[in-house]
Order: sequence, then C-alpha cells, then structure tokens
Amino acid sequence: MKYVCSSCGSEFLKWSGKCSSCGEWGTLEEVEETLSSSGKHEPVKVANYGELAKYNIKSSSKKDESHISTGYGELDRVLGKGFVHGEVVLLSGEPGVGKSTLLMQVVMKFCKKGRVLYVCGEESPAQLYSRFDRLNNGKDSKYSSNFVVTEDTVVENILALLENEKFDLIVVDSIQSVSSTMSKGYAGSVSQVRLSGSLFTRIAKTKGIPVFIVGQINKGGDIAGPKVLEHIVDCVLYMEGDQYNQYRIVRSMKNRFGSTNEIGVFEMRSNGLEEVGNPSLLFLESESDSSGSAIGAIMQGSRVVFVEVQALVVARESEVGPMRRVANGIKKPRLDMLCAVLSRKGGVFLGDKDVFVNVVGGLNVNDPSIDLAVCAAIKSSVKDVSIPKNKVFFGEVGLTGEIRGMWGVESIVSESKRAGYDELVIGRTKIGESAGIKVKKMIKISSL
Ligand SMILES: [Zn+2]
Repeated sequence: MKYVCSSCGSEFLKWSGKCSSCGEWGTLEEVEETLSSSGKHEPVKVANYGELAKYNIKSSSKKDESHISTGYGELDRVLGKGFVHGEVVLLSGEPGVGKSTLLMQVVMKFCKKGRVLYVCGEESPAQLYSRFDRLNNGKDSKYSSNFVVTEDTVVENILALLENEKFDLIVVDSIQSVSSTMSKGYAGSVSQVRLSGSLFTRIAKTKGIPVFIVGQINKGGDIAGPKVLEHIVDCVLYMEGDQYNQYRIVRSMKNRFGSTNEIGVFEMRSNGLEEVGNPSLLFLESESDSSGSAIGAIMQGSRVVFVEVQALVVARESEVGPMRRVANGIKKPRLDMLCAVLSRKGGVFLGDKDVFVNVVGGLNVNDPSIDLAVCAAIKSSVKDVSIPKNKVFFGEVGLTGEIRGMWGVESIVSESKRAGYDELVIGRTKIGESAGIKVKKMIKISSL
C-alpha cells in the first residue's frame, strides 16, 4: 500500500494528516500498489518483438502524417504541430476558464475529417448539444454524424465500445467523472483517476488514437487533481485566464512531442474562442503616460510578446502588520526578491512601503526577463515619474543588482523595432548597435 496526495501527486509510504510536499491537509489517499492486486488478469501472450530497423519511420510511407492538426494553429503550436497518433493530452485549468468550449470547438473541426467519441461525464448530452448549437450558430452541420457521445462513465464499457467501433479521437470530459470496475475507490479518487488515466493511455497507444483528457482543478482536495496524472500522459496543457478578461492562454507544462515554451492565445467572444494570430501587442493597455507603468518584452517559445507591467507603491500607514507585496501575473517570491534588490542596490528603499504589481491582460509570466520592466514600473511609481511609452525593457535582475542579457535578445531587438518602439533597455549582451532603434545597455540596477 502507498499513499498519494490528491493535490500534488506526491507519493508516501506512510499516512499523515498533512502532505509534506505541498502542505495541504487531508489530501493523502491510500492507493493499491499494483493493478494486478485487484484480481483481474489478462491472459498471457508472447510479447511482440522485431528488429529495430523495422521501425525506421523515414522509410515508411507516412511522413508528416505523424501529426494530426487540431484545426487551430494556436493549439497545434502548443502541441508541436498538432496531435501525434496515440498521444494522450491532459487539459486542465480553473473551472469556468473555457476548457469545454475549446474542446467542443476542436471536436467540431475534427468531425470534418474523422469520427470523435466524446465521453461526457460532467454534463448531460443535452447540455453538450446546446453548446454545440450555440457555437455552430444554430446551423446544421453535415459532419455532426461523426460526433458520437456517450454518457457511460465506466472505463471498461468505453474500452469495449472502442474495440467494436472505430474512432479517430477520444475526448474524456473529465477524468474525475469516469471510473474503472477494477478499483474500489469512488470516481475522482486518486486510485480511480490514476487507473482510468492509465487505461485510456494504454488504449491510445495500442490503437494509435489521440486521447484528449480534461482534468478538473478542485481546490477543496476532495477530488484528485490533474497533477496525479501528469506522469502518465504525454502532454499537459494548462488553460489560463479569468472571467474578467477576454484572453485565454494555453500553455504546455509537459510535452513529449514538442517544446514546453510555446503558448497559444485565444480570445473569448460571444460565439466561442477565436485564435489570436499575432499576440505580440495584445497585453498592452493604457495609452496614458501615468507613472507606475512599464513595457517589458518576453520570449514565449519562439514568439516575442510585449506586456505592460503596472506598479503601485504606497507608504505604510502604520508600522504594525506585515508589509504587503501583492503580485498579479508574476510570482510573489520573485517580487519579494526584486523589492529587496531595489532597496539594497537600486537606490529605491521599499522597506516602509506596500508594493502592488500587476501584469496587464491576465498573462502569467514565469520568464525572469520581465524583471527589469517590473523594477522600472516600481521605481516609476515611487518617483511619480512616467516612463515614455516608446520604451521597452528586457532583462533579468540578479541578487547583486546586475542585469543579465537573456537568450533571444536578437529577436527582441528586431521585434521591438517592428512594433514601432524607439528605445530598448537590455542587460549586458554582446549585441551591437541596431539601426532604427536605440539599444541601451544597462549593467547595474542602480542606473535604472
Ligand atoms: Zn501534496
């Protein structure tokens, strides 16, 4: 027996009330060590084998057929040219972010070239149909006969269906709503999610069909989160964004068949999600030149994206209580570190002030090259001096206050020029002068 945290997926040999890995309480759940312990055995047969040379893909007839387009360039980009035969993709994100809308749109496009099995465990088929109808603008689609739905959430029954009928894509919405007869746990428990996930993975591999699995995120911890499945699947996609913002970002956290840096950007409209082809200028908001705002350039995979960072620094009214460092769009520890560096090395003392930072547009930035823009916005707020809107910042700030040149600076220079910026502030890099844009190299944060 072992115990698995339903929140972070960590495994333990002993039970305890608190997960020592993620700190959540009451999330450890007992799981069976092996599948065979449940009593069902498949009949033994001799394993297939063959000489390696037989598996030479280049000599076989299908070349770039190995990728199946989702019908959306932005999603294909994140997956790495689309689905691979037999690939298992896990899509997760906060409830209400638009996972089901995205899936429905993918299925609607996919139906034009193949047959789709949609396991609807979260909604009734009637609810599914009403979404289909809304996204299809009430029109009848001649391809909708390829859209097959099942309400059966017993994994073995679904697998039996797949033995009898041919499908080209399987959608499981969601993994927490299906269950296997081989496990005693309730649907959504750690052991059910793990077992169902591996059964779908096995069928994907043996049949060569892509499987798209939705993983619900539940903060309460009463159902197993998508983390429990991450090591089983080939690709993990997270959908980000909130209901107050029209943009949705699909990001890959793990990808066996592509890069994990790419993002796909969609815009939520009344008639569904629309792809945003060139997101470089999407996350810029204000035209006004008020203080506390700076524009940063970041690399998102192979693309350059410009983001507006806003900062508000206010003097604390009383000495009691913790200092407030509120970060939206960047990690709070990163903001704490940048505030400390600015206080000690940047000539901007923040020890008696509350600092609020927000990345406009709902983008979560993990790329440290945003550091310089964050520092510039904070300093601008403290001094109440605005930064010209034609200026872009790009650089990582280190603990000693040094600014590092980052990978991708050539693309940043050319993209900044193309976007019409006049000045680019970067760290120490080898890059020389560039015609059409003023490149200012900044070595220390003190010269900001
Ligand atoms: Zn945990």
